[in-house]
Amino acid sequence: ISTKLPNVGTTIFTVMSKLAADCGAINLSQGFPGFDCDPVLLDLVNKYMKAGYNQYAPMSGVPALRERIAEKTKLVYGIDLDSETEVTVVSGATEALYAAVTAVVKQGDEVILFDPAYDSYAPAVELNGGIPVYVPLGMPDFSVNWERVKSAISDKTRLIMVNTPHNPSGYVWTQEDLDTLAEMIQDRDILVVSDEVYEHITFDGRKHLSLLTHPILRERTFVCGSFGKTFHVTGWKIGFCLAPPKLTEEFRKIHQFLTFSTATPLQYALADYLSEPSRYLALPDFYQKKRDLFCVGLKETPFEFSPAQGSFFQMVSYAHLSQESDYDLAVRLTKEIGVASIPISVFFSDKKDHKILRFCFAKEDSDLNKALDKLGDLK
Ligand code: PMP
Ligand code: GLN
Repeated sequence: ISTKLPNVGTTIFTVMSKLAADCGAINLSQGFPGFDCDPVLLDLVNKYMKAGYNQYAPMSGVPALRERIAEKTKLVYGIDLDSETEVTVVSGATEALYAAVTAVVKQGDEVILFDPAYDSYAPAVELNGGIPVYVPLGMPDFSVNWERVKSAISDKTRLIMVNTPHNPSGYVWTQEDLDTLAEMIQDRDILVVSDEVYEHITFDGRKHLSLLTHPILRERTFVCGSFGKTFHVTGWKIGFCLAPPKLTEEFRKIHQFLTFSTATPLQYALADYLSEPSRYLALPDFYQKKRDLFCVGLKETPFEFSPAQGSFFQMVSYAHLSQESDYDLAVRLTKEIGVASIPISVFFSDKKDHKILRFCFAKEDSDLNKALDKLGDLK
């Protein structure tokens, strides 16, 4: 049979989580919290389910949740959004990314992707007939090389896909990054999809700069967010897309036929839960402690690293230790020492080995300590 993604296999997250489970390894591979969410949030879902909020939600999202999302955006970024026309609730950021790309990318359009990038971007582009144009990020910090972006832009460029804080590297965009992007595209017909699922997870006093905060970018960007990351509920698959009215209109045309709407009781529960901003404003401190614990422990291992700026991932390099590919090493560490990680080659367009592993530190401290003990035994 002739199929559309002949070269795509099962995502590495599924592969490594299964291997971790099969081996009884500590799973620092797939990015999900190893602890539960606030019981208050669970009680709220229960409350709304029992109160009969169990049928289809409005296509664009429950109004109360859209309003709370707009309030959060105002509080955190100082940006006013119209919750009617600029906020859409979706079934996870993955849906938001796919719907945004589908809304605007036509056959033959070029889409600039940074390399490495989260693994769902390129398939979303290709399934829509778009052509990924890869711009390598600068090594070793994975910053954006703007000269390279400039030379990648052509008359066919329709979209640029941004991810800050970045998965897998944790790189956080600076004001200069935002300004340079805006300047580069302001006179062109180029849109932006900005994946900001780790918006509330930044470290060392750094602030996440949403692309919404830049007046030029705000006019042409779909910002994709996820409650999974912010409230430790990745299994709920609920997120949002923020975009100007014209773009939101196009976005909803896709969303309505992709999933139509998102789980109703979850939306009501999250609307209530969001009314207390400390619940998301506490996240940087919460994760900074975990990042610091993990990085202090990593110093006792043979790996080289610099602490992540954001996200809940820490990359480590082992080029000085072994010639093994990152995939082989990730598999071996899972099987032999019982710690699962992600080989970052999977995020690169050419799958080239860079001898870097990614660990997720969104785990119980006890599991992080156990994993560090095991990694400390490596030579
Ligand atoms: N983008 C990035 C960069 C991610 O790391 C993830 C999930 N881990 C997603 C999107 C998907 O988010 P969701 O689970 O809300 O679909
Ligand atoms: N985004 C998560 C990660 O990077 C995984 C999400 C998924 O498994 N689809 O690990």
